Amino acid sequence: MSSTSYNPYKIAQEQFDSVAEKIGLDSSTREFLRQPMREYHFLIPVRMDDGSVKVFNGYRVQHNDARGPAKGGIRFHPQETIDTIRALAMWMTWKCSVVDIPLGGGKGGVVCDPRNLSEREQERLCRGYVRQLAKNVGPCLDVPAPDVMTSAKHMLWMLDEYETITGAKYPGFITGKPVGMGGSLGRTEATGYGVIYILREALKRLNIKIENTTASFQGFGNVSQHAVKLYRQMGGNVVAISCWDANDKTAYTYRMKNGFDINALFSITDTYGTIDKNKAIELGCEVLPGDAWIEQDVDILIPAALENQITRENVNRISKNVKVIVEAANGPTTPDADKVINERGIFLVPDFLANAGGVTCSYFEQVQSNTNYYWDLDEVLHKLDSKMTMAFSSVYELSVNRKLNMRDAAYVIAINRVAQAAKSRAWV
Ligand code: GLU
Repeated sequence: MSSTSYNPYKIAQEQFDSVAEKIGLDSSTREFLRQPMREYHFLIPVRMDDGSVKVFNGYRVQHNDARGPAKGGIRFHPQETIDTIRALAMWMTWKCSVVDIPLGGGKGGVVCDPRNLSEREQERLCRGYVRQLAKNVGPCLDVPAPDVMTSAKHMLWMLDEYETITGAKYPGFITGKPVGMGGSLGRTEATGYGVIYILREALKRLNIKIENTTASFQGFGNVSQHAVKLYRQMGGNVVAISCWDANDKTAYTYRMKNGFDINALFSITDTYGTIDKNKAIELGCEVLPGDAWIEQDVDILIPAALENQITRENVNRISKNVKVIVEAANGPTTPDADKVINERGIFLVPDFLANAGGVTCSYFEQVQSNTNYYWDLDEVLHKLDSKMTMAFSSVYELSVNRKLNMRDAAYVIAINRVAQAAKSRAWV
């Protein structure tokens, strides 16, 4: 949904091409993996509360399913584009592969602003989306999940429509469902917690104690909120958070030199992660421009909003004291900025490894839904931690042994596994 000159799909392809070259991937496999296998573009007419009909554009892209059913979220955003969804679907393939879960990559989206739609309009939109796609998705085909501005309630409406169409119960059709309605304990926290499990591992390798660190976060949606919570619990100090103000329709960075009272911050946040500036001021926050999160004098930067946020225009504003960047969002760093970060020796954990906790827990949810047997929270979080830690270790070891940066090392592992699957099936 990038409005800048950066096209996420071109970036995803550039990243792929450069690693494909490094590992000497043959040309037919390159051709096959550098673009989506399938995509669906459709219109969703929705009856609005005032009786009029509004037509929304919907998409679903299945990048690759050599390792298992396509998997990935559906986002609602007014600036959504097909190229962003293509990139995100491709990153989902690498994400599932790098954490070694038996799933492929997909992504969907609707061009809309759910903040301006009533509950019933959102429900009709979710049902309309599934009606257009029912034949091309399913528990053994393509399994959607929440993403930007979609949540458990949307997943349940989508599931209900799918079950109405197919005439049977298929809780494994979609993940991120409400707990008690086929959802997994821990799924809501999973992406944010996964980011912090990965940060913990990165800091261990760098010999830095988490309790001595400070961090600045961009975004305060579901991922960031849970990441902030766990980072705080582990003793880290959050000094800045940037997020959207719905009244002013702009982002601000809130700063608390001595760290935030996280519970107080949660009490003034809505479900989209927006914070009213005036309430933040009442809490004692200093209010800075939206992009000031990047120039804070901290040890750790966590971009947890959208793509193309660290660019050649602002990368040089990163403080010389920053040691680690963990990409909690998908595609937050552009290739030109990535180059500068590498040259400066900042340890960057790439998005499709750092934020894989969400889809890993979605996989656990699928397993639980398909067997109709649900695990307790400790079991889920324990399994999540060990999957993330294992994936981090493999990528880190490869990066050291082959002298690659973490992004390239993660790509080498992920691409090799998918290429191998496609070859074993005799597709390429
Ligand atoms: N939307 C999340 C992501 O980008 C989760 C996808 C899923 O759980 O399938 O990773």
